[in-house]
Amino acid sequence: MRAWQLTDTTGIDAYELVDVPEPEPGPGEVRVALKTVGLNHLDLWVAEGKPAPKALPHIGGSDGAGVVDAIGEGVAGFEIGDEVIVDPTMSCGHCARCRNDEPVYCDEFEILGEGIPGTLTEKIVIPTINAIRKPKKIDWDVAGTFGLASATAMRMLERARLESGETVLVVGIGGGVSSAAFHLAKGMGATVYVTSRSPEKIEKAIAAGAAGGFDSAGEFGKEMAELGGADIVIENVGPATLKQSMRAAKKGGRIAICGATSGPKVELTLPVVWFRQLELIGSSMGSHAQFQRALYRISQGQARSPVDRMFDFGDLPEALRYLESADQMGKVGLRLS
Ligand SMILES: [Zn+2]
Repeated sequence: MRAWQLTDTTGIDAYELVDVPEPEPGPGEVRVALKTVGLNHLDLWVAEGKPAPKALPHIGGSDGAGVVDAIGEGVAGFEIGDEVIVDPTMSCGHCARCRNDEPVYCDEFEILGEGIPGTLTEKIVIPTINAIRKPKKIDWDVAGTFGLASATAMRMLERARLESGETVLVVGIGGGVSSAAFHLAKGMGATVYVTSRSPEKIEKAIAAGAAGGFDSAGEFGKEMAELGGADIVIENVGPATLKQSMRAAKKGGRIAICGATSGPKVELTLPVVWFRQLELIGSSMGSHAQFQRALYRISQGQARSPVDRMFDFGDLPEALRYLESADQMGKVGLRLS
């Protein structure tokens, strides 16, 4: 079978399309013949060794959906031909945190495709807990691409305790998690504002139901504050925007942070944190239940996971370059024939 393999971590061109043996499912596992695969910025970072895969060669990719084509020993409840979505949250499955549905706190927590081989392949073997039934209402393009971003966004909104009627500001609307947070928050009854450096993306967000938008490079904190401020700010940009994000939050506001695309270090003016009683909330990936709740909302039409563009499986480098260009608005993925 074909798979996209990294033999070093020198960037996009390090991905090579190679023939590898089909993996066989062990006890408690199923093999999925993938129909669609979703791409994330993580695939770009892993290709650059940030973080480095545990072993090379490495197959990247976190999202995917397909059909069960082999079943391991002792697996009940699955049949050949079942349509499933891959949940990329991997963990030991038996520690107290896993049993409490907090796999993201497990000592063995991993993102599929980051440390361990992922979905950029024709067939993948996964534990049954990671094989989620595909609702009929969801098409293959959405099924294979929504997962990581929507589960991450769902956890951010839940950790920030979003309530219907609250105001949410999503900083940098182009990215996968931001787009997912926008659609999920709207579906959960929030009034959502966005920021972007692209007027076109702001226009598209307003057409999709945003209450308004601001320039990411401008004084969006002041502009948001003049409109009453945000109860929750969804942040994954970091030093380039955090000061404005804190200004945008109401007193007592919650700022959920799941990444820092503009760099890891910021200078924090601490009195702002206590005088305005802000909460800075770290969040990473999602639990299996949060994956399911995001999926439920999308399948019920309460939220969307727009697909910007699908490429052929053989065109991974082109698809990753498109993702890297940040021109997209929604998910980018690959289709396997
Ligand atoms: Zn565990």
